[in-house]
Formats: sequence, C-alpha cells, structure tokens
Amino acid sequence: MNNQQEGSTPPAEFTERIARLLLSFISGLSQSLPEEDRLCKKLNDMAAVIRKGIRISPAKELDKDVEDYFDRLILEKKFVDGEKDIVKTMVLEVVETIMSMMKSSGNFDGSIGECTEKIQDAETIQEILKVKDYLIVEMQKVREHSHTLHEELEKHRAATETLSKKLEESEAKALVDSLTNVLNRNAYNLKIGQLVHEYKRYKEEWALLVLDIDLFKKFNDTYGHKTGDKVLKSVAATVLNSIRASDHLFRYGGEEFVVILGRVDIETTKKLSEKIRGEIEKDYFVDGDNKLKVTMSIGAAIITPEDTETSLFIRADKALYQAKQNGRNQVLVDI
Ligand code: GH3
Ligand code: MG
Ligand code: MG
Repeated sequence: MNNQQEGSTPPAEFTERIARLLLSFISGLSQSLPEEDRLCKKLNDMAAVIRKGIRISPAKELDKDVEDYFDRLILEKKFVDGEKDIVKTMVLEVVETIMSMMKSSGNFDGSIGECTEKIQDAETIQEILKVKDYLIVEMQKVREHSHTLHEELEKHRAATETLSKKLEESEAKALVDSLTNVLNRNAYNLKIGQLVHEYKRYKEEWALLVLDIDLFKKFNDTYGHKTGDKVLKSVAATVLNSIRASDHLFRYGGEEFVVILGRVDIETTKKLSEKIRGEIEKDYFVDGDNKLKVTMSIGAAIITPEDTETSLFIRADKALYQAKQNGRNQVLVDI
C-alpha cells in the first residue's frame, strides 16, 4: 500500500482539509498579534497564497475547534489588556492623591513623581504592581506626617481656646471693680464715648449723675477703713438696686460713682436721682451693735447736642460741688 502511494499526489479532499486547517491557524494567529507586527503581514500573505491555489471547503469540526481556540485566546488577551488599563488608572489615582497630600503638607520631594512615568510605561500588571511597594512606603510617610500635623493643630486649638478664655476673663476683670463688683472707670471710659455717639445719632436724651458719699473721710476715721470698704460695697449695691436694668452704674474712683440714666428729661432725672439719694439715706450698715449710715450728694446733667464726654461730666461735677456747698445729702441738676 505504501508503494502504491509513493510519488502520487494526495487526494484533493485531504489537501483541502489541510489547507482549511492551515487557514484557521493562520487567521487565528494573525488576529492574536498586533496589526503592525511583521509576522502578521507575512501570515496574511501566506493565507492569500493558500486561498488562491486551493478550493476552500466550509469549516469542519477540527477547523472550528482551532478557530474557537484562537477566539478564546484573543478574548483573554483583550480582557488582560482591559484589566491592565484599569489597574493603571487606579494606581495613577493613588499616586496623584499621595502627591497632592505631600505637596499640601510640605513633604513633597519629587521622587514619587517618577512613579507616574513608571506606571504609564508599564506593559504588564506585574510591572505596575512593582511600584506598589514604593507607594506603600510613601503613603506611610504622609500618614505619619498628617498625624503629627493633626496633633500640632489640636495643641494649637487647645492653646488658643485657653488663651481666649483667659483674655475674656481678664477683659471682664479689667472692667469690673474688685471691691464693689460694679463696672469700673475703664468701663465708664469705654461706655461714655459710645453713649455720646449714640445720642448724636438717635437724639435720645440721657443723664449723667456724679454721686459722692458725704464726709466719707470722717467715716473711715471713725469706723476704720475696713468697715468703710464694706459700706462702699453696700452703697454700690443699693444704688444698683435703685436704678433700672437699662441704666448704668460705675465706680468712678474712691467713694465716687457715676450713674447713666437712659431716656430722661429734667423732671425724671430729678425724680430718679432723688430716689437713689433717698434709698441711701434709708439704708444702714450693721456693725456690731451699731447701725451705720451714710448719705450721698448727687450732681446731674442731661446731655445736649453741644456736649462732649468731658463737658457733660464737668457740668454734672459742678452740680455735685454745688450740692455739697448747699449742705450735702441732696440732688442738684444742672440746667
Ligand atoms: P465730701 O462730703 O466733701 O465728699 O467729703 P469726703 O470726706 O467724702 O471727701 P474727701 O474727698 O475729702 O475724702 C474721700 C474719702 O473717701 C477719703 C478716703 O478715706 C475715702 N475713700 C476713698 N476710697 C476708699 C476706699 O476704697 N475704701 C475706703 N474705706 N475709703 C475710701
Ligand atoms: Mg465724699
Ligand atoms: Mg469724693
């Protein structure tokens, strides 16, 4: 049988099948290669030669299997390529994030920028993932830095809070008289400017009263400075209780106080000043068996458009002087 076939051409059907199979291989192989590959062109030329010389029968079982195999191969390659692109994008995002965090924390040294190039040029997932270890180290650095940064910020925040609390306290202390707990001369200086300004704007009259304890030097001499202090405290409390919440009381200095009465005319100023004077006169301070009493003289002036803080005070102070001259324990309103 071998002898019979030697030198004879194989049956046409066999040649066709081989050619068909060869075409399946060639087309599968060339599809799995990049188009620009030189082998791809050679394979396509070869396929053309085969097609020209032999009648091509439709694909049979084995050809189909070969075609399927190559289809699967191509699909897998596409899938891997797609996966690679996704990983590339993800890693690049991470690099960008680390870079911007480093820049904002002042920790940027530029070397991480090289990662971007490495990832862009990477052909396989393995190459991309090689950059990962480097990224982990850089990420750790940023994390540590931002942790310190956070701690520092927290320290600053706490310090600022304490400072502003202290400032508030000391500001409040600076405006309150420590003996009587009413507003002090500093507070008066701040408030009077504001009140004069408001008057010029809203034209709502108010009165300034200067109050002075009568013969207090003698009181101190008789009962002692400590008792004098207690009486000063009690006088301040009594005056505060005699005025409206919207009025103001300041300890101007020593045994001298200033009261601002809002929204008044001459008559109400006289009436309210008289009320304060009367309350002090009625009041007494218990010291052992003694009921100690003091009186106050009050000079008052109502603000006018011509007044400044100083001129208004001088008018009230002159009225006080006059009240003292007239015999003390009385009110005098400057008109
Ligand atoms: P006048 O009726 O003219 O006001 O007589 P006066 O004695 O009150 O006036 P003077 O200005 O001569 O004396 C004020 C006295 O007030 C002197 C001082 O002993 C007393 N004084 C001032 N500040 C304080 C204080 O904080 N505590 C005590 N205990 N006394 C004070
Ligand atoms: Mg006095
Ligand atoms: Mg005085």
